[in-house]
Amino acid sequence: MTTLPPVERFTSSSGVDIYRLPMLLFPKDFTGHAFVLDGAGPLTLVDTGSGMGRSNEDLLSGFRQIGERYGKSYTLGDIERIIITHGHIDHFGGLAFVLDQTDAAVGIHELDLRVLTNYEERVIVATKALGIYFDRAGIEPSQREALFAMYGFAKKHVTSIDVDFSIGDEEVMDGLEFIHSPGHCPGQVCIRLGNILLSADHVLSRTTPHQSPESITHYMGLGHYADSLRKLLRFEGIELALGSHEDAIHDLYGRVNAIRASHNRKLDRIRKIMRDRGAPMTIAEITQAMYPDVDGYHVLLALEEAGAHVEYLYQHGHLSIANLQEFEAQPNPAVLYELQV
Ligand SMILES: [Zn+2]
Ligand SMILES: [Zn+2]
Repeated sequence: MTTLPPVERFTSSSGVDIYRLPMLLFPKDFTGHAFVLDGAGPLTLVDTGSGMGRSNEDLLSGFRQIGERYGKSYTLGDIERIIITHGHIDHFGGLAFVLDQTDAAVGIHELDLRVLTNYEERVIVATKALGIYFDRAGIEPSQREALFAMYGFAKKHVTSIDVDFSIGDEEVMDGLEFIHSPGHCPGQVCIRLGNILLSADHVLSRTTPHQSPESITHYMGLGHYADSLRKLLRFEGIELALGSHEDAIHDLYGRVNAIRASHNRKLDRIRKIMRDRGAPMTIAEITQAMYPDVDGYHVLLALEEAGAHVEYLYQHGHLSIANLQEFEAQPNPAVLYELQV
């Protein structure tokens, strides 16, 4: 059984107490955080967990621990505002559970708003776009069903929920400074509180946040993500970043640059794979060469990650389409890429 670290409190230079509540989001060991903010307007909850498995229970335990460790006996009923950092299920799947216990106003960036308010539509649209992507990536028909099943996992327990307010870029609300950071997700926001940044899934301490092609969902893709990393470097004076997963980051700017370097290495690796092959390749083939050992859900993640990098290379003029005639003649054929010389 996964053991979670205790709730921790951080106090920002702007005087806000930030409680970090660890939760198990997906079995077996995918953990993450919700945050309670005291001192920035109404008592605010940032993200709600996945609503799956132990997640709701862990959220309640987090509130109990705030009382035990820090003497503040909040309950979910005391929460007056809920901010969702982005429209991924591990961040908003627990929203219905939380809203059973509070009338808090719910807010999310406008680019992820429909994920919450029109969830069923969003799943249909995203699944359709993913199918088109699979065709273009050259996925074998036999593999499609398993990939769609993985994609549908964890999406069934959620229904649409009303949103009370949307968040714009660089909006300031009760001392919370929102920084729109599209890439990992269209409506991804980081939240700055003085010297502390809630970096959500935009910057994590160990892993490079997952990338998926813009061809599946607008405002995602490596180009947007790289722009958002660069944008973050403009915000000086951040001494501590708290991600929605993994550990606190004490050198945010160094971490941002390490993530940028990691993506550059992946781009180089794709070019090398393609040079070594010496023949046009599909995204499925490039993925197989980059991530030969992945299984389960990671197959889907690998396809999206590699595809985001191929898309970036193509957008920036490093690749061209080798089977343009077929691409023109067929409804949605697999695209063969070759290095642009
Ligand atoms: Zn995410
Ligand atoms: Zn996440």
